[in-house]
Amino acid sequence: MKLEGSCHCQAVRFQVESHEPYPFMRCYCSICRKTAGAGGFAINLGADFRTLQVEGREHLAVYRARMPQPDGSVQTSSGERHFCRTCGSALWLWDPQWPELVHPHASAIDTPLPVPPEHTHLMLGSRASWAEPCVGEGDKTFDAYPDESLADWHERLGLHGR
Ligand SMILES: [Zn+2]
Ligand SMILES: [Zn+2]
Repeated sequence: MKLEGSCHCQAVRFQVESHEPYPFMRCYCSICRKTAGAGGFAINLGADFRTLQVEGREHLAVYRARMPQPDGSVQTSSGERHFCRTCGSALWLWDPQWPELVHPHASAIDTPLPVPPEHTHLMLGSRASWAEPCVGEGDKTFDAYPDESLADWHERLGLHGR
C-alpha cells in the first residue's frame, strides 16, 4: 500500500510504497526510546526505498546512533535515522547495509494503517523500568532481537503486500 507521511511542522512530507505496513513491532531499545519513543518504544514499518519520494528534503537531518561497547570504545551505527531539523519528528531509518529497504516510523505516517492482529515486543532487556509492555494474546516478547523479520511476520500471517 502507498503510505503518506510527514513531520509535525509539515516541512517534510514523504510517500513510499510498503509491503509491510502493519505496525506490530515495538522496539524498547534506548535508541528508539530516546529518539522516537515517548511511550517507551518506537514502531518501524517496512517499505521500498526506491519508491521513497520526499518534499522538503532540505529540512532533514540524520542521526547515526553512537553505541558504547563493553571495551569502552564507541561504535557508530550504520543506520541513518532521518528526522526533521525544525520540529524533531522521527521520520525513517535507512541503512546502507540494506539499501533497498527503508523503515518509516509508524508515528510519522498519516495514511490510516492496518491494525495488527498480534504484536512483537523486542529489546525488552533494554526497556525503561516504567515502560511496561502491554502484551496481548498471541504477542511475542524478546529480550533482544526477534526471531522473525518484518517481512517474515507479514508472510506468516498472510498479510504481506496487502
Ligand atoms: Zn518538521
Ligand atoms: Zn530500537
